[in-house]
Amino acid sequence: MPSASERCFEGNLLLRSLRPEDRALLLPHTERIDYGRGATLFAAGREVDFISFPLEQTVVTLVISMIDGRSAETATIGREGAVGGVVSNGGLPASTHALVQLPGPVLRMDSARLQEAKRRSESLRDLFTRYSDCLLAQVLQSVACNALHPIEERCLRWLLTLQDRLESPVLPITQETLAAMLGVQRTYLTRILRMLQQQGLIEVGRGRITILNRGDAEAVACECHACVRRHFQTVLGAVYSPTGRLVAIEPPA
Ligand SMILES: [Zn+2]
Repeated sequence: MPSASERCFEGNLLLRSLRPEDRALLLPHTERIDYGRGATLFAAGREVDFISFPLEQTVVTLVISMIDGRSAETATIGREGAVGGVVSNGGLPASTHALVQLPGPVLRMDSARLQEAKRRSESLRDLFTRYSDCLLAQVLQSVACNALHPIEERCLRWLLTLQDRLESPVLPITQETLAAMLGVQRTYLTRILRMLQQQGLIEVGRGRITILNRGDAEAVACECHACVRRHFQTVLGAVYSPTGRLVAIEPPA
């Protein structure tokens, strides 16, 4: 009979892909925590003491805040990934805030414990190195996307990214949140969303946005979403299926 923590491993694609011996290395050091919307996993400048694996439909964003109070999303991480020590290698200061965007459970473990487990297991090290590469690819693509692609395409990219992680076309996200993620004014975003709605791509409801036709939305979005997805498939074996559903990651060979 699997323990509660073992069952949690099924809710995160990285953890689900672990070999039994790697699973055994991490399991004793993990704890499940439920976070509300807006909770801070770590703050910029503070040491990253814990690595967090979003479970199920929990979504975390890495946010950079500017001196003038404005902020923007730099990466969005759901159950395909991990937040914290993977990137910083633990015990180092965070360069971003990590905020819970869509509430739910997270499995977390002490960064130092993860480092120790990685020292003991080459396959664990390899998996997290590959994931770090994918996360970096995601961020690099965003840099180019933000510089080159119009807001309506970036907006669709973000919605598709969220759909991948939720496995649902109904995205429980407010216009305020989406505007903050894209670094634009709410009123400006409202005009963009209205335009996308008039094109039949999305439906904007109270506290939610629905992607009406995944194929059409992908065709209108910039190529960045597909580029990142391909990189995940190549490097991690992770895998967004053709329908946009995430499926299990194959353990590294
Ligand atoms: Zn783009």
